[in-house]
Amino acid sequence: MPSIGNNKPTETVKVLLVDDRQDNLLALEAVLASPDYELIKLSSGQEALRYLLSEEPAVILMDVQMPDLDGFETANLIKQNERTREIPIIFITAINKDERYVSKGYAYGAVDYIYKPFDAHILISKVRAFADLYRKNRRLLEAERRLRETAITEREHRLAELELRALKRERAEQKKYRDLVEGIPEGVVWAALPESFMFVFVSQAAETLFGYPVDQWLTEENFFLSRLPSEEREAFRDGVRAIWETGKSFEREHRFLKRDGTTAWLKTSVRIHRDPENDAVELRGLSTDITRLKEAERMLERAKNRSELLAQASLALAKSVDYQTNLVEVADLVAAHLHANLHVFPWTKASAVPDTDKLLRQGMVVTELRARNNSLGLLAIEPRGGGDFARDELQGIADDLANRVAAAIDNAALFKRAQDAIKVREEFISIASHELKTPITPLKLQTQLLLRMADRQPESEWKRDHIVGMLRSSNQQIDRLTRLVDDLLDMSRMGQGKLQLSFAEFDLVALVLEILKRFEEQLARAGIQVEASLPESLIVCWDSFRIEQVLINLLANAVKYAPGKPVSVTLSQENNIVVLSIKDNGAGISKTDQARIFKRFERVGSSTAIAGLGLGLYIVSQIVGEHGGKVFVESSLGHGAKFTVKIPRQPIRIAKAAKQPALPAAREARGG
Ligand code: ADP
Repeated sequence: MPSIGNNKPTETVKVLLVDDRQDNLLALEAVLASPDYELIKLSSGQEALRYLLSEEPAVILMDVQMPDLDGFETANLIKQNERTREIPIIFITAINKDERYVSKGYAYGAVDYIYKPFDAHILISKVRAFADLYRKNRRLLEAERRLRETAITEREHRLAELELRALKRERAEQKKYRDLVEGIPEGVVWAALPESFMFVFVSQAAETLFGYPVDQWLTEENFFLSRLPSEEREAFRDGVRAIWETGKSFEREHRFLKRDGTTAWLKTSVRIHRDPENDAVELRGLSTDITRLKEAERMLERAKNRSELLAQASLALAKSVDYQTNLVEVADLVAAHLHANLHVFPWTKASAVPDTDKLLRQGMVVTELRARNNSLGLLAIEPRGGGDFARDELQGIADDLANRVAAAIDNAALFKRAQDAIKVREEFISIASHELKTPITPLKLQTQLLLRMADRQPESEWKRDHIVGMLRSSNQQIDRLTRLVDDLLDMSRMGQGKLQLSFAEFDLVALVLEILKRFEEQLARAGIQVEASLPESLIVCWDSFRIEQVLINLLANAVKYAPGKPVSVTLSQENNIVVLSIKDNGAGISKTDQARIFKRFERVGSSTAIAGLGLGLYIVSQIVGEHGGKVFVESSLGHGAKFTVKIPRQPIRIAKAAKQPALPAAREARGG
């Protein structure tokens, strides 16, 4: 009576053992002896072929090296025969790890390979697997045969059909699972003996993923654990051991040395498998290659780290206008996120320029600090080891950081400049109000006095000389006020680039003489004697009104800052350049102050007792500049000052200016 399921008695199957050496045959027999198998021992390939003419064993275990017909040739002949083709063959030979040898075996259609001295467990489990397969196939054929017998009862028929279907499903499932296992490209499916951790099965991916031939996985002792980094080995072993106690599966991410020397990241999960049919225990596992995932995770981590660093650095740099203090915090961030030191070298006069090559040789990553197209210095990151970033990544971070640091340095400089400018302006406003007020007081007094006199005395009795004197003095104060206001107006026009020049030919010598005449009284009052060294005449094509301003400002300064000492005025021409200098013998100007006195509102501390807005030399330099010339000073403290103006006799800009009639705005503004 046929039955379905696992509980029927095990059918004895034939196992053919072929070896030319009797002792080997006996050894195999000793290992495989079981009521499940009928062991047929034959000592040559020829005998085996003869036996196969009439019999069909479940599996053939065959020695490779035999005289006359060796194992491979015998296998070849077996595989050529339609009827015996499907019989699985396991070659048994002394350990030979030559891959070519192994692949030869596979080419002859061997399904497996076992090395001497063989592991009895492996041999038994392999033979068992083939025997099971054989029985299942037999049952399948039997069922099919029974089905074909029309005489069987309906019930038998149904049962047979059911069994056939179950068997077919089982076979299809087995194939499906095998395809599934072999079809996993990213992971190795494996089975191993629990004590020795010897593999009894690994899927093909074991070779494609990690480079070691399948055979090596199956035969090398301690193969798997010895490929783990030593520090991870113990934990892995403990994890596997723990499965016995907990019965739960074990899962771990670990590194694994590949055959090419590189390291892969694996995620291995292991569980115990107990065969319900024979209670055999096996470790079953799946080791998935997660190297790319790990790399992606690390990249993500690094990207996060990088953007956090940059965001926090931006915040730190914006904390105060004192970028030096902020940089200390940024350096702390760099140390924490990159395991590196931060160096910032701004181009200041005080600090020496660092040698970029030297920094690079010291292993630093160097980049330039640039803001608004200006180079502000260098930024270097010095890795201290243990950081996660590659050099090119550090370079990218250094560049990003440099942008932020440069902006902070630039902002700090702009802020300082703005503060300085505000301070200068405030000082100027206080000086300007004082200066503008000074002439107003006597003007007011004289006007009040005149009014009182007009009230008290009839017109005829006014003392004419007295009145004329007062009016003259008032006029002088008005002139002074006018000059101050004119200077302010000029300054604002120059600042906006709106100074209009009107070039025309005139005799410069005549102009110098006229101005000296105008200054005669002031110079005399200041006790200054002028020595003029002038040519007969010198025709220039300049803006005479503006040049007059230059002369007046320079002479007025000599009067203010060098009273009681002689002044010399010289005029000459070198090639086409006119050279005019006014040299006094006053207190002079220190080298450090010389550069700034030509700027707006700049005055030298020692001269603040003397009236002035700090605009005279600024206006001189602007006018001379507009004529295509230059003004400079030669002086040292206590040795007077020599201001020299050099202008081309015929400035190049004339051509342009002459074409369009100059607007007389500046002249009108002077108020006639
Ligand atoms: P101001 O005379 O109104 O201060 P200037 O622009 O004409 O403005 O001069 C700027 C500063 O340069 C003066 O305050 C003074 O300190 C210095 N200076 C100019 N001319 C002379 C000079 N001949 N000798 C010494 N110092 C001078």
